[in-house]
Amino acid sequence: MVLHDLVPRPGMHVFGIQIPITGSNALRSLEHLVGQPDLAAARSRWLIEEELSPMGREPMLRSHDPNYVDRLLVGPDPGFLAGRSPNSAEREVMRAFELVNADGSYHRFDPVSAERTLTQLRDQSLRLAHGTIRGAEIALEHEDRFCFYFGGGMHHGQFDFGEGFCLVNDLVVAVREMQARGAIDTAWIVDVDAHKGDGTAALTAGDDTIHTLSVHMAKGWPLDQPVTLDDGRDNPSYVPSDIDVPIDSGEESQYLPRLKEAMEEMERRYPLPDFLLVVNGADPYERDQLPSAELLKMSRADLLERDRFLYRWFRERSIPALFVMAGNYGYHSWEIYSQFLERQIRGELD
Ligand SMILES: [Zn+2]
Repeated sequence: MVLHDLVPRPGMHVFGIQIPITGSNALRSLEHLVGQPDLAAARSRWLIEEELSPMGREPMLRSHDPNYVDRLLVGPDPGFLAGRSPNSAEREVMRAFELVNADGSYHRFDPVSAERTLTQLRDQSLRLAHGTIRGAEIALEHEDRFCFYFGGGMHHGQFDFGEGFCLVNDLVVAVREMQARGAIDTAWIVDVDAHKGDGTAALTAGDDTIHTLSVHMAKGWPLDQPVTLDDGRDNPSYVPSDIDVPIDSGEESQYLPRLKEAMEEMERRYPLPDFLLVVNGADPYERDQLPSAELLKMSRADLLERDRFLYRWFRERSIPALFVMAGNYGYHSWEIYSQFLERQIRGELD
Protein backbone atom coordinates (compact mmCIF):
# COMPACT_ATOMS: atom_id res chain seq x y z
CA MET A 1 0.00 0.00 0.00
CA VAL A 2 1.07 3.57 -0.63
CA LEU A 3 0.18 6.25 1.93
CA HIS A 4 -0.24 9.81 0.71
CA ASP A 5 -1.03 12.77 2.94
CA LEU A 6 -3.55 15.01 1.17
CA VAL A 7 -2.57 18.14 3.09
CA PRO A 8 -0.48 20.33 0.72
CA ARG A 9 3.22 20.36 1.48
CA PRO A 10 4.81 23.63 0.37
CA GLY A 11 8.53 23.76 -0.37
CA MET A 12 10.99 25.49 1.93
CA HIS A 13 10.99 28.72 -0.11
CA VAL A 14 7.46 29.41 1.18
CA PHE A 15 8.97 29.64 4.66
CA GLY A 16 11.77 31.94 3.42
CA ILE A 17 14.33 29.10 3.53
CA GLN A 18 16.72 28.46 0.66
CA ILE A 19 17.07 24.66 0.96
CA PRO A 20 16.04 22.52 -2.04
CA ILE A 21 13.29 20.65 -0.17
CA THR A 22 10.60 21.22 -2.76
CA GLY A 23 7.77 19.05 -1.47
CA SER A 24 7.17 18.13 -5.09
CA ASN A 25 8.85 14.73 -5.29
CA ALA A 26 5.98 13.02 -3.46
CA LEU A 27 3.41 14.60 -5.75
CA ARG A 28 5.37 13.96 -8.93
CA SER A 29 5.87 10.30 -7.98
CA LEU A 30 2.18 9.94 -7.31
CA GLU A 31 1.25 11.70 -10.57
CA HIS A 32 3.55 9.35 -12.43
CA LEU A 33 1.92 6.31 -10.83
CA VAL A 34 -1.68 7.37 -11.43
CA GLY A 35 -0.66 8.43 -14.95
CA GLN A 36 -0.24 4.72 -15.81
CA PRO A 37 -3.65 3.45 -17.02
CA ASP A 38 -3.36 0.05 -15.32
CA LEU A 39 -2.31 1.58 -12.01
CA ALA A 40 -4.99 4.28 -12.21
CA ALA A 41 -7.67 1.64 -12.75
CA ALA A 42 -6.54 -0.25 -9.64
CA ARG A 43 -5.93 2.88 -7.57
CA SER A 44 -8.10 1.90 -4.61
CA ARG A 45 -6.19 -1.38 -4.31
CA TRP A 46 -2.83 0.27 -3.61
CA LEU A 47 -3.38 3.89 -2.56
CA ILE A 48 -4.52 5.24 0.82
CA GLU A 49 -5.07 9.02 0.87
CA GLU A 50 -5.72 10.74 4.18
CA GLU A 51 -5.44 14.17 5.74
CA LEU A 52 -2.92 13.66 8.51
CA SER A 53 -2.65 15.77 11.64
CA PRO A 54 0.60 16.78 13.37
CA MET A 55 2.08 14.19 15.73
CA GLY A 56 0.92 14.71 19.30
CA ARG A 57 2.83 14.93 22.55
CA GLU A 58 2.31 11.35 23.79
CA PRO A 59 4.17 9.46 21.04
CA MET A 60 6.97 12.05 21.00
CA LEU A 61 7.62 11.46 24.68
CA ARG A 62 8.55 7.87 23.90
CA SER A 63 11.83 9.05 22.36
CA HIS A 64 12.34 12.71 23.24
CA ASP A 65 13.13 14.86 26.27
CA PRO A 66 9.88 16.21 27.84
CA ASN A 67 11.38 19.72 28.05
CA TYR A 68 12.25 19.63 24.36
CA VAL A 69 8.74 18.42 23.52
CA ASP A 70 7.32 21.32 25.57
CA ARG A 71 9.48 23.83 23.73
CA LEU A 72 8.44 22.35 20.40
CA LEU A 73 4.71 22.29 21.12
CA VAL A 74 4.34 25.90 22.25
CA GLY A 75 1.61 27.86 20.51
CA PRO A 76 -0.45 28.52 18.50
CA ASP A 77 1.47 31.75 18.22
CA PRO A 78 1.96 34.15 15.29
CA GLY A 79 5.70 33.98 15.95
CA PHE A 80 8.29 36.51 15.06
CA LEU A 81 6.98 37.24 11.59
CA ALA A 82 4.27 39.17 13.43
CA GLY A 83 6.98 41.41 14.85
CA ARG A 84 7.61 39.37 17.99
CA SER A 85 10.73 37.56 19.03
CA PRO A 86 10.79 33.91 17.94
CA ASN A 87 8.84 31.54 20.16
CA SER A 88 10.53 28.42 21.54
CA ALA A 89 9.26 26.22 18.69
CA GLU A 90 10.65 28.66 16.13
CA ARG A 91 14.01 28.69 17.88
CA GLU A 92 14.07 24.90 17.68
CA VAL A 93 13.14 25.04 13.97
CA MET A 94 15.94 27.58 13.40
CA ARG A 95 18.41 25.23 15.03
CA ALA A 96 17.22 22.11 13.17
CA PHE A 97 17.27 23.91 9.81
CA GLU A 98 20.51 25.81 10.63
CA LEU A 99 19.01 29.22 9.88
CA VAL A 100 21.24 31.33 12.13
CA ASN A 101 25.00 31.82 11.96
CA ALA A 102 27.21 32.03 15.05
CA ASP A 103 27.23 35.86 14.74
CA GLY A 104 23.41 35.99 14.82
CA SER A 105 22.95 36.72 11.11
CA TYR A 106 20.62 34.54 9.05
CA HIS A 107 21.91 31.57 7.06
CA ARG A 108 19.97 30.72 3.86
CA PHE A 109 16.92 32.34 5.50
CA ASP A 110 15.08 35.48 4.49
CA PRO A 111 12.07 36.05 6.76
CA VAL A 112 10.96 39.02 4.64
CA SER A 113 10.23 36.69 1.70
CA ALA A 114 8.39 34.14 3.87
CA GLU A 115 4.70 33.53 3.23
CA ARG A 116 4.37 31.21 6.22
CA THR A 117 5.80 31.18 9.72
CA LEU A 118 8.29 28.80 11.22
CA THR A 119 5.53 27.67 13.59
CA GLN A 120 3.69 26.49 10.49
CA LEU A 121 6.85 24.71 9.37
CA ARG A 122 6.88 23.02 12.81
CA ASP A 123 3.34 21.82 12.14
CA GLN A 124 4.24 20.58 8.68
CA SER A 125 7.24 18.65 10.03
CA LEU A 126 5.19 17.06 12.80
CA ARG A 127 2.51 16.07 10.30
CA LEU A 128 5.10 14.37 8.10
CA ALA A 129 6.42 12.65 11.24
CA HIS A 130 2.93 11.48 12.22
CA GLY A 131 2.55 9.76 8.86
CA THR A 132 5.29 7.32 9.85
CA ILE A 133 3.12 6.08 12.73
CA ARG A 134 0.18 5.79 10.35
CA GLY A 135 2.36 3.97 7.80
CA ALA A 136 3.50 1.52 10.49
CA GLU A 137 -0.13 0.81 11.38
CA ILE A 138 -0.93 0.11 7.74
CA ALA A 139 2.11 -2.14 7.28
CA LEU A 140 1.19 -4.14 10.37
CA GLU A 141 -2.57 -4.34 9.81
CA HIS A 142 -3.07 -4.54 6.06
CA GLU A 143 -2.93 -7.92 4.34
CA ASP A 144 -0.25 -6.51 2.02
CA ARG A 145 2.17 -6.30 5.01
CA PHE A 146 3.91 -3.46 3.15
CA CYS A 147 3.48 0.28 3.16
CA PHE A 148 5.38 3.03 1.37
CA TYR A 149 4.78 6.43 2.95
CA PHE A 150 5.38 9.62 0.95
CA GLY A 151 6.96 11.39 3.92
CA GLY A 152 8.93 10.66 7.09
CA GLY A 153 12.51 9.59 7.60
CA MET A 154 13.71 12.29 10.02
CA HIS A 155 16.70 10.26 11.10
CA HIS A 156 18.78 13.19 12.41
CA GLY A 157 16.29 14.02 15.20
CA GLN A 158 18.06 13.70 18.58
CA PHE A 159 16.79 13.26 22.15
CA ASP A 160 16.59 16.96 23.04
CA PHE A 161 17.24 18.84 19.82
CA GLY A 162 16.61 18.65 16.11
CA GLU A 163 19.15 18.95 13.31
CA GLY A 164 19.56 18.18 9.64
CA PHE A 165 16.00 19.44 8.89
CA CYS A 166 14.61 16.88 11.38
CA LEU A 167 12.69 18.10 14.43
CA VAL A 168 11.69 14.73 15.84
CA ASN A 169 12.89 11.22 15.06
CA ASP A 170 9.70 9.78 13.58
CA LEU A 171 11.37 6.40 13.02
CA VAL A 172 12.18 5.61 16.64
CA VAL A 173 8.94 7.26 17.76
CA ALA A 174 6.88 5.06 15.40
CA VAL A 175 8.64 1.85 16.44
CA ARG A 176 8.21 2.63 20.15
CA GLU A 177 4.58 3.56 19.56
CA MET A 178 3.94 0.19 17.91
CA GLN A 179 5.76 -1.54 20.77
CA ALA A 180 3.69 0.35 23.37
CA ARG A 181 0.50 -0.77 21.64
CA GLY A 182 1.69 -4.37 21.75
CA ALA A 183 1.72 -4.66 17.95
CA ILE A 184 5.44 -5.65 17.83
CA ASP A 185 8.28 -6.50 20.18
CA THR A 186 11.28 -5.91 17.95
CA ALA A 187 12.24 -3.89 14.87
CA TRP A 188 15.16 -3.18 12.60
CA ILE A 189 15.68 0.25 11.13
CA VAL A 190 17.64 -0.02 7.88
CA ASP A 191 18.77 3.37 6.67
CA VAL A 192 19.92 3.82 3.06
CA ASP A 193 19.65 7.61 2.97
CA ALA A 194 22.91 9.29 1.85
CA HIS A 195 23.48 10.67 5.36
CA LYS A 196 24.21 8.60 8.46
CA GLY A 197 21.13 7.80 10.57
CA ASP A 198 22.79 9.44 13.55
CA GLY A 199 19.72 10.35 15.61
CA THR A 200 18.32 6.85 15.17
CA ALA A 201 21.59 5.27 16.35
CA ALA A 202 21.83 7.56 19.39
CA LEU A 203 18.19 7.12 20.43
CA THR A 204 18.32 3.32 20.21
CA ALA A 205 21.79 2.78 21.72
CA GLY A 206 21.45 0.11 24.41
CA ASP A 207 17.89 -0.80 23.34
CA ASP A 208 18.04 -4.51 22.44
CA THR A 209 14.59 -4.42 20.88
CA ILE A 210 15.61 -2.10 18.03
CA HIS A 211 18.62 -2.76 15.81
CA THR A 212 20.01 -0.30 13.30
CA LEU A 213 21.95 -0.47 10.06
CA SER A 214 23.04 2.64 8.20
CA VAL A 215 24.69 2.80 4.77
CA HIS A 216 25.92 6.34 4.15
CA MET A 217 28.53 8.76 2.84
CA ALA A 218 31.80 8.08 4.68
CA LYS A 219 32.51 11.81 4.89
CA GLY A 220 30.50 15.02 5.03
CA TRP A 221 27.51 15.86 7.18
CA PRO A 222 26.74 14.72 9.91
CA LEU A 223 30.23 13.21 10.30
CA ASP A 224 32.10 16.49 9.83
CA GLN A 225 30.83 18.15 13.02
CA PRO A 226 32.79 18.85 16.23
CA VAL A 227 32.91 15.83 18.54
CA THR A 228 31.45 17.89 21.38
CA LEU A 229 28.32 20.04 21.36
CA ASP A 230 28.37 23.72 22.37
CA ASP A 231 27.24 22.71 25.86
CA GLY A 232 30.20 20.34 26.27
CA ARG A 233 28.32 17.07 25.83
CA ASP A 234 29.57 14.39 23.45
CA ASN A 235 28.04 14.95 20.01
CA PRO A 236 25.50 12.11 19.62
CA SER A 237 26.03 12.08 15.84
CA TYR A 238 29.07 9.87 16.49
CA VAL A 239 27.15 7.17 18.36
CA PRO A 240 27.52 4.12 16.08
CA SER A 241 24.60 2.23 14.57
CA ASP A 242 24.65 -1.52 15.24
CA ILE A 243 26.20 -1.76 11.80
CA ASP A 244 27.55 1.25 9.93
CA VAL A 245 28.56 0.97 6.28
CA PRO A 246 30.43 4.11 5.25
CA ILE A 247 30.82 4.48 1.47
CA ASP A 248 33.52 6.80 0.19
CA SER A 249 33.12 8.99 -2.84
CA GLY A 250 34.06 6.87 -5.87
CA GLU A 251 33.11 3.60 -4.12
CA GLU A 252 29.56 3.53 -5.53
CA SER A 253 30.19 0.12 -7.14
CA GLN A 254 30.72 -1.23 -3.61
CA TYR A 255 27.38 0.04 -2.34
CA LEU A 256 25.15 -2.91 -3.20
CA PRO A 257 27.57 -5.71 -2.28
CA ARG A 258 28.27 -4.04 1.04
CA LEU A 259 24.57 -3.49 1.76
CA LYS A 260 23.92 -7.18 1.08
CA GLU A 261 26.83 -8.24 3.30
CA ALA A 262 25.57 -5.97 6.08
CA MET A 263 22.08 -7.50 5.96
CA GLU A 264 23.66 -10.96 6.19
CA GLU A 265 25.63 -9.78 9.21
CA MET A 266 22.43 -8.44 10.82
CA GLU A 267 20.87 -11.88 10.38
CA ARG A 268 23.88 -13.59 11.93
CA ARG A 269 23.86 -11.26 14.93
CA TYR A 270 20.19 -10.84 15.74
CA PRO A 271 16.92 -12.77 15.53
CA LEU A 272 14.66 -11.63 12.70
CA PRO A 273 12.53 -8.66 13.79
CA ASP A 274 8.75 -8.32 13.97
CA PHE A 275 8.90 -5.20 11.80
CA LEU A 276 11.29 -3.59 9.31
CA LEU A 277 11.50 0.14 8.77
CA VAL A 278 13.47 1.25 5.71
CA VAL A 279 14.71 4.84 5.56
CA ASN A 280 14.55 4.91 1.79
CA GLY A 281 16.28 8.19 0.92
CA ALA A 282 16.72 9.11 -2.74
CA ASP A 283 19.58 11.49 -1.99
CA PRO A 284 22.36 9.03 -2.97
CA TYR A 285 20.98 9.59 -6.53
CA GLU A 286 23.36 11.33 -8.95
CA ARG A 287 20.62 13.82 -9.91
CA ASP A 288 19.68 14.72 -6.33
CA GLN A 289 20.30 18.44 -5.78
CA LEU A 290 21.39 18.78 -2.14
CA PRO A 291 25.04 19.91 -2.06
CA SER A 292 25.72 17.95 1.14
CA ALA A 293 24.62 14.69 -0.53
CA GLU A 294 26.98 15.08 -3.51
CA LEU A 295 29.59 12.65 -2.25
CA LEU A 296 27.47 9.71 -3.45
CA LYS A 297 26.48 9.51 -7.11
CA MET A 298 24.35 6.41 -7.61
CA SER A 299 22.55 5.73 -10.88
CA ARG A 300 18.83 5.07 -11.26
CA ALA A 301 19.59 1.43 -12.03
CA ASP A 302 21.73 1.07 -8.90
CA LEU A 303 19.01 2.51 -6.70
CA LEU A 304 16.35 0.29 -8.25
CA GLU A 305 18.58 -2.67 -7.44
CA ARG A 306 18.97 -1.37 -3.87
CA ASP A 307 15.23 -1.03 -3.39
CA ARG A 308 14.47 -4.35 -5.08
CA PHE A 309 16.97 -6.12 -2.82
CA LEU A 310 15.47 -4.66 0.37
CA TYR A 311 11.93 -5.38 -0.83
CA ARG A 312 12.70 -9.01 -1.61
CA TRP A 313 14.60 -9.38 1.64
CA PHE A 314 11.59 -8.75 3.86
CA ARG A 315 9.15 -10.48 1.49
CA GLU A 316 11.16 -13.70 1.55
CA ARG A 317 11.18 -13.61 5.35
CA SER A 318 7.49 -12.62 5.72
CA ILE A 319 8.30 -9.56 7.84
CA PRO A 320 5.94 -6.55 7.64
CA ALA A 321 7.75 -3.49 6.36
CA LEU A 322 7.34 0.25 6.07
CA PHE A 323 9.46 2.27 3.64
CA VAL A 324 9.59 6.03 4.25
CA MET A 325 10.72 8.65 1.75
CA ALA A 326 13.52 10.33 3.78
CA GLY A 327 16.01 12.61 1.96
CA ASN A 328 15.03 13.88 -1.49
CA TYR A 329 16.13 17.25 -2.83
CA GLY A 330 15.45 19.20 -5.99
CA TYR A 331 13.32 18.09 -8.92
CA HIS A 332 14.53 14.66 -10.01
CA SER A 333 14.43 12.39 -6.95
CA TRP A 334 10.81 11.43 -7.68
CA GLU A 335 12.22 9.15 -10.41
CA ILE A 336 13.73 6.88 -7.76
CA TYR A 337 10.50 6.38 -5.84
CA SER A 338 8.42 5.98 -9.02
CA GLN A 339 10.58 3.32 -10.61
CA PHE A 340 10.40 1.24 -7.44
CA LEU A 341 6.72 1.72 -6.72
CA GLU A 342 5.39 1.08 -10.21
CA ARG A 343 7.11 -2.30 -10.20
CA GLN A 344 6.03 -3.04 -6.63
CA ILE A 345 2.37 -2.27 -7.32
CA ARG A 346 2.39 -4.40 -10.47
CA GLY A 347 3.81 -7.30 -8.47
CA GLU A 348 6.98 -7.36 -10.56
CA LEU A 349 9.29 -7.36 -7.55
CA ASP A 350 7.84 -10.47 -5.89
ZN1 LIG B 1 19.88 12.48 3.54
